[in-house]
Amino acid sequence: MTMNFSDRIQRVEPSATLAISSLASQLEAEGEDVIDLSVGEPDFPTPENIVEAGEEAMEDGHTGYPPSKGVPELREAVAEKLQADGLEYEADNVIVTPGAKQALYETVQTLVDDGDEVVLLDPAWVSYEAMVKLADGDLTRVDLAPHDFQLEPALDDLGDAISDDTELLIVNSPSNPTGAVYSDTALQGVRDLAVEHDVTVISDEIYEKITYGVELTSLATLDDMYERTVTINGFSKAYSMTGWRLGYLAGPEELVSQAAKLHSHSVSSATNFVQRAGVEALRNTEIEVSEMVEAFHERRDRLVALLKQNDVDVRTPDGAFYLMLPVSDDDQQWCEDALEEAHVATVPGSAFGAPGYARISYAADLGRIEEAVERLVANDLL
Ligand code: PMP
Repeated sequence: MTMNFSDRIQRVEPSATLAISSLASQLEAEGEDVIDLSVGEPDFPTPENIVEAGEEAMEDGHTGYPPSKGVPELREAVAEKLQADGLEYEADNVIVTPGAKQALYETVQTLVDDGDEVVLLDPAWVSYEAMVKLADGDLTRVDLAPHDFQLEPALDDLGDAISDDTELLIVNSPSNPTGAVYSDTALQGVRDLAVEHDVTVISDEIYEKITYGVELTSLATLDDMYERTVTINGFSKAYSMTGWRLGYLAGPEELVSQAAKLHSHSVSSATNFVQRAGVEALRNTEIEVSEMVEAFHERRDRLVALLKQNDVDVRTPDGAFYLMLPVSDDDQQWCEDALEEAHVATVPGSAFGAPGYARISYAADLGRIEEAVERLVANDLL
């Protein structure tokens, strides 16, 4: 029998970052010492108090179906966190999801119809494109690469791309893959365009806590943005909880009640005891988070300094734990060579719509980052 696969599913490719990681694991299995700078996750264990809260929740019997949109304690804690950031969300504005990825997926499915135009800022995280394609949307892309990956100098280009036909714009600051944190002026520019053309904006703030000496403004705090913004966040990056699968969306109640239908008919809910651990993460993990951010900061500084020593000119990224390394035009080939010759795993920029670059994740031990640069230099790759 031949199965007939949907057009929808055939339109998307598997995640490029996962492909590189699995190639790296294969080399490792063959006994090679691979320095893996391709993964998008913190290299720290989940803080102990969060693990304990999860264990206690399991022992206390929080193992059944929770309310679909999330346990009240966590929705409340999320609303409190967002209010502390100057956002007006209440618990009713929140859907707790198994990872921010699911929150994004639900939002895109809720807003985008066949042929609707969605604007992405390139380089963009790989899954946005796939999510839009799965919703039958049409993509328009604005390239930030010629502007040092900053949005402010690209506002005219964004103005050219957005029209009354635009349904949705996706903004991700701090950005994966560039580490750029967009300025307040840039966000005000987004607001002006969104209001003028009646566009909904997704603000993916999953790297919000990981910034170095700059403050991130949450888009929905700007005048006229609350009613047209869906704020996305999660626990994976800030609390080193990637495998727990916990995130959320926050938006106007109307959006929440529509998205909640997809949520309840697909995943039902995020895991009950994981949500209880999420309350602990939000309320009692400030010190651990700042220690992790300090470690990322030190690694970023060291990596940028080492690259400069080797005459590689990079703009210092202000957030997340990524850096875009300018490589040869054929970035795919460069990444293959880096993996096969230097045993250093990175992700080709073209996966993010930025050919000519490789994404380095510096969520790795300082000594390993130093060794990675040495190996790239020794193999004439820098
Ligand atoms: N948004 C961005 C920009 C990301 O980099 C990631 C993780 N790689 C996510 C969302 C999803 O994170 P999670 O599903 O683990 O919460």
